[in-house]
Amino acid sequence: MERPPLSATKRCPHCGQWSAHRLQPDDRCEHCQQLLDPFGPERAAQMEKAWKWEMPPMMLLPIPATDPAWLRALKYLVRGGQLLFAATVSFILWLITAIAG
Ligand SMILES: [Zn+2]
Repeated sequence: MERPPLSATKRCPHCGQWSAHRLQPDDRCEHCQQLLDPFGPERAAQMEKAWKWEMPPMMLLPIPATDPAWLRALKYLVRGGQLLFAATVSFILWLITAIAG
């Protein structure tokens, strides 16, 4: 049996047929119209919550022009770290969503 590319198709957990997959949490099987990932919508909601939790601190760190140069450089560094952390977390969540099932 030929296995189609992982990114474009997914085996339906309900009827066992390969179905086109757009990597959306609410993708449905072409054959039986069931959710390809029964936990997709739940994970998508979790990911959204993680983003909301990660993003605000990054937005809240103010870098006023009145700060001395060394302090602004330090804050930019912290911001970069926060951005990197948020990106890493969202990438891991995306990876879990993409490879699960
Ligand atoms: Zn199906």
